Amino acid sequence: MFQKVLIANRGEIALRVLRACKELGIQTVVVHSTADSDAMHVRLADESVCVGPPPSRESYLNIHQIVAACEITGADAVHPGYGFLSENAKFADILAAHNITFIGPSGDHIRIMGDKIEAKRTAKRLGIPVVPGSDGAISDEKEAKRVAAEIGYPVIIKASAGGGGRGMKVARSEADLEVALQTARSEAGAAFGDDAVYIEKFLEKPRHIELQVFGDGAGRGVHFGERDCSLQRRHQKVWEEANSPALNSEERARIGGICAKAIADLGYSGAGTIEFLYENGEFYFIEMNTRLQVEHPVTEAITGIDLVHEQIRVASGGGLSVRQEDIKFNGHAIECRINAEDPRTFTPSPGTITHFHTPGGLGVRVDSGVYSGYRIPPYYDSLIGKLIVHGRNRVECMMRLRRALDEFVVDGIKTTLPLFRDLVGNPDIANGDYDIHWLEKYLAEDD
Ligand code: ADP
Repeated sequence: MFQKVLIANRGEIALRVLRACKELGIQTVVVHSTADSDAMHVRLADESVCVGPPPSRESYLNIHQIVAACEITGADAVHPGYGFLSENAKFADILAAHNITFIGPSGDHIRIMGDKIEAKRTAKRLGIPVVPGSDGAISDEKEAKRVAAEIGYPVIIKASAGGGGRGMKVARSEADLEVALQTARSEAGAAFGDDAVYIEKFLEKPRHIELQVFGDGAGRGVHFGERDCSLQRRHQKVWEEANSPALNSEERARIGGICAKAIADLGYSGAGTIEFLYENGEFYFIEMNTRLQVEHPVTEAITGIDLVHEQIRVASGGGLSVRQEDIKFNGHAIECRINAEDPRTFTPSPGTITHFHTPGGLGVRVDSGVYSGYRIPPYYDSLIGKLIVHGRNRVECMMRLRRALDEFVVDGIKTTLPLFRDLVGNPDIANGDYDIHWLEKYLAEDD
């Protein structure tokens, strides 16, 4: 087991990882920018190192400073959290070259999954169902037309280097194709410095369903069931649940089995999430994230397994603590992402939190790094906390969520809490009847 882990992140996820380390008796080092000197993760860690000024590029993304912080403090492993350097293959390689363990998969696996064309090709080879489309990058309009005619309209043009929903364009007929191709290509070139694009069938009303997987790096793979993250705004997840209201246990076992086997065959190590669009009973792979996800607590709630403990165990060579048959799904869990944003326009609302009171009671978990009197710096993501509620079934979970939301107080800034108070009372949400476009339509109707 590791002696000392450096946490290369901030906010609620830094605290989340810190808690797991403390439970495992591992010393903790956190890094922080000058804007985060009074952050909770800095206060609670055994040691802290300031790695730079507020902009992420100069602090939380500053590989040289972070490696230096490891050397100064004698940390033998780094947990990257999510975002920042968590999917940076170069960072994983540099740590390996310094004999510091990256708590995550190999640089090569990060690289494969970071290139969407390569990821899709790999998924297909491993027997994971993918969206019908071009085999690789599209070279010209002629090829785009041929592929689109084969798979049928509407189609979507996507950037190979894509992320955050950028560089994607839909073409509903051949007449739209030329413009869609050109726009997607130039957006991709501008955003990612790589204008390779590919084409796939556009699904009209899918759900976003993702499988939590784990590999032990020695040929064993397991799945921890799915999360339904269909409630999104601008491709950003807002509300996540486990299990999905749309799947039954046979479908879960089928897709879970496919994913676990793929992870085993890949020789993957650590936590990963295989994301699918799900429509008319079929799964279509869209991407794999090679890290812990923001929404991992809903999986922890229904399985009772600490996923960060598992990440640390696997990275230290101790293997997974569970076999597939030990992983049981109990009840239902929902997570709401509390952002420092206007609940309707989603404009960021940084500032000082004058009063912060979190709900409690059976089945309620709040992961947050903020406190009364905390000033939210304007430089980073607007997520200030996550409310995760668990019940024996979805009805009980929704009842508990409603009262937990009523208890939650965040004064001094705007937050997304009022949006969730509206959503718990909505009949479609109560029935679990929504797809990936539901939330945007709901917000547009409300204006
Ligand atoms: P990114 O990495 O940029 O987030 P993804 O491939 O994960 O890109 O897709 C982001 C979102 O775009 C999906 O959650 C879905 O809403 C939409 N999308 C992607 N591919 C398709 C498709 N083939 N049909 C319909 N919607 C899609």
